[in-house]
Amino acid sequence: MQDSKPNSLVIYNTLSRSKEPFEAINPPFVGMYVCGPTVYSDVHLGNSRTFISFDIIYRYLLHLGYKVRYVRNITDAGHLEGDNDEGDDKFAKRAKLEQLEPMEIVQKYTVGFHNVLRAFNTLPPSIEPTATGHILEQIEMIKEIIKNGYAYEVDGTIYFDVEKYSQEFNYGALTNRKLEDLLEGTRELDGQDEKRGRLDFALWIKAKPETLMKWPSPWGWGFPGWHIECSAMSSKYLGETFDIHGGGMDLQATHHTNEIAQSQACSNVDPVKYWVHTNMLTVNGVRMSKTAGNGFLPEELFTGNHRLLERGYSPMTVRFFMCQSHYRSTLDFSNEALQAAEKGYKRLMEAISKIDKIEPSDTSSVSIDEIKNNCYAAMNDDFNTPTLIAHLFDSVRVINSAIDKTETLTSDDIVALKTLMSTFVFEVLGLLDEADAGVGGEVIDGLMSLILDIRKSSREKKDWATSDLIRDQLQKLGVQVKDTKDGTEWRL
Ligand code: AMP
Ligand code: ZN
Repeated sequence: MQDSKPNSLVIYNTLSRSKEPFEAINPPFVGMYVCGPTVYSDVHLGNSRTFISFDIIYRYLLHLGYKVRYVRNITDAGHLEGDNDEGDDKFAKRAKLEQLEPMEIVQKYTVGFHNVLRAFNTLPPSIEPTATGHILEQIEMIKEIIKNGYAYEVDGTIYFDVEKYSQEFNYGALTNRKLEDLLEGTRELDGQDEKRGRLDFALWIKAKPETLMKWPSPWGWGFPGWHIECSAMSSKYLGETFDIHGGGMDLQATHHTNEIAQSQACSNVDPVKYWVHTNMLTVNGVRMSKTAGNGFLPEELFTGNHRLLERGYSPMTVRFFMCQSHYRSTLDFSNEALQAAEKGYKRLMEAISKIDKIEPSDTSSVSIDEIKNNCYAAMNDDFNTPTLIAHLFDSVRVINSAIDKTETLTSDDIVALKTLMSTFVFEVLGLLDEADAGVGGEVIDGLMSLILDIRKSSREKKDWATSDLIRDQLQKLGVQVKDTKDGTEWRL
């Protein structure tokens, strides 16, 4: 199964604005870089959609037999509130608000991010580098860009010279826009501005006396601009040119455009073969975002604790809901859509659990191979998960009809059907059978009370080492334990 049609995958490349056959630069290896979260606040459901979309892309490439190095960064420094290198540092502002150290903010929201992605059953990336862990690499890259003549210093801040760059390269390539049009969309410079050109952006920003997160550099104390971290870390771990670079569509115009410029200006190579962008999750047609204030936290969605939610929805219902739309289409959130997804998810899981009840026949009245080919064709067509799901429901119908004996399947068909469902539903779409996995189910409940009893008795015996070990290990698994006056509570 693994080897059927591995070479017919077609990916939509934002750069060429067309679907292209996927040919890895150095098969079977594939380098994939996805811009990760800015960990100054909780990830909302929109962010989660993007990471779930790339999880499915990652899973499918693995399924096809590629050896994928998946790098997803954590932005933990260098993020100012304005897109134009203006405003407060988001981390410092949040640290002040929560009366924590900036690195406590980073830790808190990184842990939260991991817990959310674990609840959605996403696979961890191969490398998860942080911006603060790669300051030296960023400084080296900036030095190279200055040496090549594409950046200049103004009083300890380094700007990328877009005009100079545009004399040799196409700055607006990713969004297919001309320089004049881009210029028109930005405000005129005034006497206050240090930079020479309206589109110039900061590679390194001089620290103010009150700046908390700062590092020494050849240009004095400062911190990196937002875009340079991804150029520095992607080239470090995946090489100067790599296969796939992804992120949400909102990153195309500035962040990814500037990443291309930085890499070209540093090494004179086009860094990425396939640019992949996911579309936005919206609420009543408005993009879900941290600043718009319409961002549900996944936890609110699971518990139903939000004014827009009629009730809670399980992580796999939400994951299934996301899979029902193509990653390049917008997906609008609504209670009705989630309730429909819940029904669909349950129907799928029930059918899978019934496969073993099918009585084999000597003849087949349906072709499982045809359904399998359709499933591959859907995924090979730019990871078309909604079409894949439609074919998986063809299997659901076959299962139900075989049980009703209105269709017949041989024992080989039944094995093929089981493999097909396990491949596409669990391995590729990354769904779990929640009834089986027992999220809140009887087996997990029983195991948890057993573990908490052991913890309680070790505390009574003042065996702090054991009780701390249990708490820490549970925390690593995403289980939060809280001691209350009525006993110990736990939740995932
Ligand atoms: P941030 O933490 O804001 O840098 O975002 C992390 C990732 O989530 C980026 O790839 C964004 O493009 C993506 N993203 C932000 N908002 C949404 C949304 N409403 N729907 C889908 N993806 C989003
Ligand atoms: Zn990035």
